[in-house]
Amino acid sequence: MHPSFLHSPGWRVMSVAESCQLCREAGGEVLWQDERCRLVLVADADYPGMCRVVWKRHVSEMTDLDNADRSHLMSVVFAAEKAVRATARPDKVNLASLGNVVPHLHWHVIPRWRDDRHFPGAVWGPPMRDSRDRPAVAGAVLREAFVRSLAGEPA
Ligand SMILES: [Zn+2]
Repeated sequence: MHPSFLHSPGWRVMSVAESCQLCREAGGEVLWQDERCRLVLVADADYPGMCRVVWKRHVSEMTDLDNADRSHLMSVVFAAEKAVRATARPDKVNLASLGNVVPHLHWHVIPRWRDDRHFPGAVWGPPMRDSRDRPAVAGAVLREAFVRSLAGEPA
């Protein structure tokens, strides 16, 4: 950025809420939320049922949360994992919290199949093979399984 830009009259510092994608947007189709976090479905035909659990307040690391919030977030992540297993029937589930691109605390819950595009690599890596046709997972179905899991019932 040219130094003169910093002093131009129209320039001001953007707030976190303005500059952070997950402060501005849900990050997917909202399936469920409470006052602390939300579960969103990510539309990706290669990974039906893939979802994210997004902490609502802008923090970047798990250790920015106190113990009670941390436990709450993980109980939501694990209920989401159970729901993904019950509805998408994957061979494996990947749980990941990276935040290198969007440093706003969120967990990815990713169903994996041995013949999916990236297996056994991470879904963000180079593809290993072509896409396979997979049955879609409806948001409403995933939501019902999630709510059951969160209540401690079988998904
Ligand atoms: Zn944010």
